[in-house]
Amino acid sequence: PLDKDELGRNTWSLLHTTAAYYPDEPSRNQQTDMNQFIHLFSKFYPCDFCAADLRQDLKSHPPDTSSRSNLQQWMCRMHNIVNVKLGKPEFDCSKVEERWKDGWKD
Ligand code: FAD
Repeated sequence: PLDKDELGRNTWSLLHTTAAYYPDEPSRNQQTDMNQFIHLFSKFYPCDFCAADLRQDLKSHPPDTSSRSNLQQWMCRMHNIVNVKLGKPEFDCSKVEERWKDGWKD
């Protein structure tokens, strides 16, 4: 079985990559579906206390599904909320495309 950290890394990979390929101009249905996906995800994420905190955070930070870039920035802020809670450094959200889509330039 995956431990909480390995599960977390794999899940963030899925979530950030999903946001990186979300449409630039999503239809109304796509926006509703993504919103539901995120809320349903928060009911079944298999780390109970992580999921409970996430459900709380979703109340104060509702998903911004209005465009790819807004969803990516929202996902980055959600991940940073967890980073801060765990005492990890905050990620610079201007770098999400580089990290999760284009690859680091060097
Ligand atoms: P991770 O935090 O897993 O990050 C993986 C990679 O993502 C990083 O190496 C970095 O390149 C990139 N990254 C980091 N921050 C961002 C960002 N803001 N935006 C974009 N990319 C970024 N663990 C707990 O102990 N308690 C919890 O309550 C908890 N809640 C969680 C809730 C969710 C929804 C998820 C998916 C995970 C949760 N976790 C929780 C797990 C935790 O977030 C980490 O995944 C785990 O601690 C492993 O951390 P890591 O340092 O390997 O990097």
